[in-house]
Amino acid sequence: MHAARNLRLCTKDCVCLFICPTGATNTETGQIDFDKCLDGCRLCVDACPSGAIYLVSSTYPAPQPKHPSVLETLYSLVRSKAAQEDVAHSVKEGSDDAALRQICTVVETSSRIIAEDLWRESGYIIAQSEATRALLKAMISEHGTMEGFPRTEVEELLSRLS
Ligand code: SF4
Ligand code: SF4
Repeated sequence: MHAARNLRLCTKDCVCLFICPTGATNTETGQIDFDKCLDGCRLCVDACPSGAIYLVSSTYPAPQPKHPSVLETLYSLVRSKAAQEDVAHSVKEGSDDAALRQICTVVETSSRIIAEDLWRESGYIIAQSEATRALLKAMISEHGTMEGFPRTEVEELLSRLS
């Protein structure tokens, strides 16, 4: 475990700065140095008058496996949302009607957000997980040469997650 600070609640009274035995809390930057935090001794958590500090786990369990039928349903919904995003984008690009373009932007954005949520529910919520790395490799393999595909960025992301 280690401590983390909610900056919206922090009133910068510096109690945590004085009570932390290792100087892990920095009230100037709002950061808590995880390398210095003593396995979440929670002195700062108990001392903070604003309830701004909490403990978070240093490691997370592997995502629970999902039944293949659930995954297939999620993937199907993702494909549907991706198609809706494409259609909304095409209609917007081909129209001079300001109201229509605005509606298309809303559909485009909401489709993408829903698709991203579905991806997360499909087992990709932890960016460093093996599932995410496998997905990025598959994207490069299947779409790497496709026009507009951000291959350099995906490869960079993959290298950072490895
Ligand atoms: S003790 Fe709490 S309110 Fe005070 S500086 Fe630390 S985090 Fe912020
Ligand atoms: S949990 Fe303990 S070591 Fe970690 S920041 Fe708080 S007081 Fe410091």
